[in-house]
Amino acid sequence: MWRQEMAQANIIDNMADIELSLVVPVFNEEDTIPVFVKRIKPVLDAITQEWEVIFVNDGSRDTTLKLLRELNAGERRFKTLNLSRNFGKEPALTAGIDAASGRAVIPMDVDLQDPPELISEMVAKWREGFDMVLAVRSDRASDNFMKRWTAQMFYKIINDLSAVDIPADVGDFRLMDRRVITALGQYRERGRFMKGLFASLGFNQTVVYFARPIRAAGTTKLNVFKLWALALEGIISFSAKPLKVWTYVGLTSALIALVYMLVIIARIVFFGISVPGYASMMSVMLFMNGMILTGLGVIGEYIARIFNEVKARPIYIVSENIGFTEQVSQPALENQVHAISEA
Ligand code: UDP
Ligand code: MG
Repeated sequence: MWRQEMAQANIIDNMADIELSLVVPVFNEEDTIPVFVKRIKPVLDAITQEWEVIFVNDGSRDTTLKLLRELNAGERRFKTLNLSRNFGKEPALTAGIDAASGRAVIPMDVDLQDPPELISEMVAKWREGFDMVLAVRSDRASDNFMKRWTAQMFYKIINDLSAVDIPADVGDFRLMDRRVITALGQYRERGRFMKGLFASLGFNQTVVYFARPIRAAGTTKLNVFKLWALALEGIISFSAKPLKVWTYVGLTSALIALVYMLVIIARIVFFGISVPGYASMMSVMLFMNGMILTGLGVIGEYIARIFNEVKARPIYIVSENIGFTEQVSQPALENQVHAISEA
């Protein structure tokens, strides 16, 4: 329970003052931030005065950081955590959530693909007493056919394989009560598939629906390779079935081999020695080698993740925080690096 420890140590001391925290990871988003800020401020002001927006600058190489600094100078409630390099969206999100003090926390994208107007609906549900309010995409019209199809396949596979039920068409955009955030704080694994972690928390959930618009400005920061890596991360960190299936693949092929061996022996006994064809030998050998290497590859994926977890490096490193009244530090786990100076 590192968060309580931090609160006791007065590292985070204003937890009760802030009602709503938005957590917004940004990576090279100089074009998008001004549009986002303009849209978000009236929405938040209409809900409460006690809000904060935490931008997590995920190692941007454009003028994003400069922009965020200016933003904080004009409005203290726009704060920034500056990570020491690009860690990826999931660690950036984790950093922001760790630093958020709101009684409710909403992670969202900066590109306005998560419509700000939905926030008031979410807050209304939260005030009714729900702990988690999911924003469900009611259509995927803004995605092309390929993205829609792969997303559908991904949800089918992951839900077939894992014990956690990960809802389709739900992103990171959701409202979470402080109780949920505290529970999430106990998940310190390095492989961070946030959707899965969120889904495994449980609590009293409800949904609101929205149509996902296209990006407001700039271009997507998640290419095919990043999405593939994320999908793999999700499946492997939420299921051991890909690992276990090889036992049965191996047993089945051994059984088939045994039967075939008996057939060959019987043939030799009853019809004399025969030399089986080169083609059939070759194809069986290549097929079996392919299977063995695939099995090894799957084991490798798990071992690589065990390796990462065992090293227990920090999930993210904060190099600077801008606009926080108190020091924001890394989670006070014994093996994590402690932070860093106020801006
Ligand atoms: N993002 C990030 N680090 C990264 C990649 C993306 O913080 O390495 C942020 C990005 O700035 C945006 C959000 O994650 O706020 C979602 O990214 P994007 O819109 O490019 O993804 P898409 O909506 O296309 O899946
Ligand atoms: Mg986007």
